[in-house]
Amino acid sequence: MGSGEGLLPTEPSDSPTEGPDGWGVGRVSSPRSQVSIFEALGREYEEIVFFHDASSGLRAIVAIHSTVLGPALGGTRFYPFETEEDALRDVLRLARGMTFKAAAAGLDLGGGKAVIVGDPKRIKSEELLRAYGRFIDSLGGRYITAEDVGTSRDDMDLVRRETRFVTGVSPHLGGSGDPSPVTAIGVFEGLRACAQEVWGDPSLAGKRVAVQGVGKVGHHLVRLLVDAGAHCVVADVDVDAVARVVREFGVETAEPDKVHAVHCDVFAPCALGAVIRDDTLPELKCRVVAGSANNQLERPEHGRALHEAGILYAPDYVINAGGLINVSDELMGYSEERAMARVRGIYQTLRAVFHLASTKGIPTAEAADQFAAERMRKIGRLRLLHVPPRAGPSA
Ligand code: NAD
Repeated sequence: MGSGEGLLPTEPSDSPTEGPDGWGVGRVSSPRSQVSIFEALGREYEEIVFFHDASSGLRAIVAIHSTVLGPALGGTRFYPFETEEDALRDVLRLARGMTFKAAAAGLDLGGGKAVIVGDPKRIKSEELLRAYGRFIDSLGGRYITAEDVGTSRDDMDLVRRETRFVTGVSPHLGGSGDPSPVTAIGVFEGLRACAQEVWGDPSLAGKRVAVQGVGKVGHHLVRLLVDAGAHCVVADVDVDAVARVVREFGVETAEPDKVHAVHCDVFAPCALGAVIRDDTLPELKCRVVAGSANNQLERPEHGRALHEAGILYAPDYVINAGGLINVSDELMGYSEERAMARVRGIYQTLRAVFHLASTKGIPTAEAADQFAAERMRKIGRLRLLHVPPRAGPSA
């Protein structure tokens, strides 16, 4: 556990969606360097837990970045990491990102993440997942898990048999279902906030939106945009996915490697990370970059470059928080109505981030980090107020 001083992020300028270099984690990635776990924890991280169950082959790492706002929630990535150092580096980077995402979304949750080391196709089994669930349970709710790359809802259902500290389970177990349509609604609300900021009107009617990636989120987003009167240009490396949206919505198409350079009002990355980088940035012909993809900026400097180019950037972890908001509602007994109301709040959250950015004259990516850190400082501090224990019935 970290000391009180280290629990609150003091230097939010290091984008949580980027590698944690500068937080002492860099050494972990170097194959020849000596791994210093405590150095990896840096000034911010609270806890790293290693789980090992030889019989099932479970080797897992949980990283808890912060519980200042509440239990650390984040998914379990099941992946054949080449080295344990890679696994550790990834889990630390992802855990930190979750802290900022939850804080910016206004959730009473901290940030954490887990990785299971190994090829899920080869080693995933009921025994392994339930062993994992028992270990998660041993953390007593400091960390709450969910699905991520390499894990599914069915896997979470197995984890649920051993612990209640898991979300993203099947609806009959109290789960909230597929997060993608909800994420798309949050992104759509984010686009409306961008339109308000740039054109003084949240309506997307008549706006030309280039959507990169029409998978689970992109497909739903195109539907919402078309219903709102926007003109969409779509691209995907999967020709079937493109054919489907063309058939359903009659949209235009572009080449996947050229879609970022389409003349449009909004470029919406909904596929991969690192789409805003040195080679793509000068080719952008839009006023807004806003989409669901994680880690859209290859490096934090690209946030400033967008700002200087006069392009409004909706920070990825703010606009794509719908899935997290939805899944977190399971902790209160899932209510679709309540979850949707909070997801629609992404509009106001982005407005607040844009306001902070324009007031301070800083890029929106930096403003988002400051916005989240400010919430951690203000709301996290409340835990310090003494609340006397309530008298029990026999007192
Ligand atoms: P998905 O895999 O269903 O869809 C991604 C789509 O992008 C696929 O159709 C794929 O073929 C396409 N694609 C891949 N490479 C491409 C390229 N070079 N050019 C164009 N298209 C390409 O994933 P998803 O769930 O829709 O998520 C999309 C993005 O949003 C990811 O970055 C994901 O991390 C992020 N995200 C998703 C959710 C969610 O609820 N699903 C929540 C938060 C963030």
